[in-house]
Amino acid sequence: MRDVQAARPMAGSLQDASLFQRIGRFLDEQKLSPDPAHYAFAFAVLSAPDSELAKAVREHTDLDLRLTRQDIERLGGRVVEGPPPALARSAADTAGPSLADRTDSAIALVIETQQQVDGFAQIVRTIQAETEDFGHDLAKSAAALTQLAELDEITRITSSMIARIHDSEVRLALATAETDALRSKLAEARDTARRDVLTGLPNRRAFEEAYAARDAKAGPYCLAVCDIDRFKRVNDIHGHSVGDRVLTAIGQAMAAECAPHLVVRHGGEEFAVLLAGLSLSDAAALLDSVRAVVAAKRFRNRETDTPLGTITFSAGVTAIHAAEPAEAAFLRADRLLYAAKEHGRDQICAG
Ligand code: GH3
Ligand code: MG
Ligand code: MG
Repeated sequence: MRDVQAARPMAGSLQDASLFQRIGRFLDEQKLSPDPAHYAFAFAVLSAPDSELAKAVREHTDLDLRLTRQDIERLGGRVVEGPPPALARSAADTAGPSLADRTDSAIALVIETQQQVDGFAQIVRTIQAETEDFGHDLAKSAAALTQLAELDEITRITSSMIARIHDSEVRLALATAETDALRSKLAEARDTARRDVLTGLPNRRAFEEAYAARDAKAGPYCLAVCDIDRFKRVNDIHGHSVGDRVLTAIGQAMAAECAPHLVVRHGGEEFAVLLAGLSLSDAAALLDSVRAVVAAKRFRNRETDTPLGTITFSAGVTAIHAAEPAEAAFLRADRLLYAAKEHGRDQICAG
């Protein structure tokens, strides 16, 4: 199966065309009908040669073995449900990729999505051109049929039409698989644009959207602005990368403790919380319980095993008025946060 081994991820329309041919050959060699499910499977194998799926298929086919139906169902059942690159990525994500890896994969995702768009556009253009040609040929053939009574000629024209229709079906199935993969990648790209790379929490943009989409029925709404106390000291004493890990741990703890309310990294060592359906006093009580959870954590430097000491945060919590712009609510919450810092930190100020 040299072709499968030589397959590379799509990188532009020329390679897309050869990817299409490779998919055709793969289906042929594996004696698979041009069913969309088989297309999705072949596409998954050939478009992501480094995926677990592609490796598993190579292990079978290296020995010139044909995949059995059971093999395909075992390997392909999963890929048919979702596009393979996303599956490969989510498997890597659970292993805890580094910040650099996540940045690289975000860039790779954008590039991959662009390539996918190019590939899809190319397929659609090909289908359009062929449909147009086919329409003209059909008209010519119909005209010929009215003049020719010879059976051989009619059989030839009919067979050619059937072959063309079959070919179009094959291409449409490929386009469908491409669309599904593209839709999923775009959803992933949308999510990436609304997520903070360091902490994995939603970012400021996600907050702005959630703020704008507030629903009066789910209200009242409160805003909390939380800022880690004396965080500069953590960086100064233990280094920036330890600071990064502490920031991530605190952000994750806040998100877990505040769920289902939205917690975002608003910038630096500052987090914003959009609380829905809570009165101001309930929102302040929730934030105070989160504060106590964070203050009780015992962070250690995992390289040196030295304790980092108690790390706390302060917060300002305010009720959001109906139709109030986000800036006005933030201004009030920031003032309250400042008061909390002034009063000694590790506390919540509500107003
Ligand atoms: P305060 O209690 O008044 O908030 O004191 P502070 O030291 O937390 O405040 P200050 O504004 O003086 O310093 C904030 C520090 O947060 C400085 C900055 O280097 C650090 N910081 C901001 N973003 C990051 C980050 O992404 N990673 C790390 N490691 N540090 C960060
Ligand atoms: Mg700050
Ligand atoms: Mg701070």
